[in-house]
Amino acid sequence: MGFRERGIEIKSRDQIDKMRVAGRLVGESLELMRAAVRPGVTTGDLDRIAEEHIRSQGGVPSFLGYGHPPFPGTICASVNNEVVHGIPGARVLAEGDVVSLDCGAIVDGWHGDAAITVAVGGPDAVSDDVRRLLQVTEDSLWAGIAAARLGGRLTDISHAVESHVRGHGDYGILEDYVGHGIGTEMHQPPNVPNVGRPGRGPKLVEGLALAVEPMVTLGGKETDLAEDEWTVVTSDGSRAAHFEHTFTLTVNGPWVLTALDGGEARLTEMGAPYGGR
Ligand code: MG
Ligand code: MG
Repeated sequence: MGFRERGIEIKSRDQIDKMRVAGRLVGESLELMRAAVRPGVTTGDLDRIAEEHIRSQGGVPSFLGYGHPPFPGTICASVNNEVVHGIPGARVLAEGDVVSLDCGAIVDGWHGDAAITVAVGGPDAVSDDVRRLLQVTEDSLWAGIAAARLGGRLTDISHAVESHVRGHGDYGILEDYVGHGIGTEMHQPPNVPNVGRPGRGPKLVEGLALAVEPMVTLGGKETDLAEDEWTVVTSDGSRAAHFEHTFTLTVNGPWVLTALDGGEARLTEMGAPYGGR
């Protein structure tokens, strides 16, 4: 177990290095699924790709059996108006759908958690507004990570996510679902909201690991829970996107544990420091 201060688990350097192993495995699983997304594929096919890869590398799928009722998949696969927590299965993806793929793995007791949203049939298969929704949501995730600094506050991240989204159009940002601390468990304190004023909440310190996960819609922020008791859908039926990374802060800057390159390319492109080792 890591050291805990007010419920927040502070990891040692070695423990963060173990989280990098879990994070990389999640990142690889997402890339394998992204490459497999095409019309005619089922969300269950994608789930099997992730589970096989995670287990082949000695990891354990963290979503499987999680919560009540126990979640039945390795991934969450959420299509179109489904925002998060969709159950993978027989649903066949069609050209023009968007599918959000959320994946978590445990390696040696340490968790990684990340998500992407993919246009089925490629970017040209969806309308301009849907294509922009995906871009804005992904960019807002990176804006949030890039805003994190040692000595800063947690809602600096929230504020950066919100500002990016609001600055690019009239989107809904979910408030009932948030990012989270992560480490020896998938969901730990503190919550990481996707809206808010900066300068509030816990101080950002070395050894903190956070999952940042903006959930953005083409309509409003209100959601409903489907009859399966898991799938979160937009109340107005609008399409949604979800991107997530697990990251930490080193003395040099953010290190994105679930990005294959640690976030180096993207952070550098944004003019932000990169804290990977
Ligand atoms: Mg996730
Ligand atoms: Mg998460």
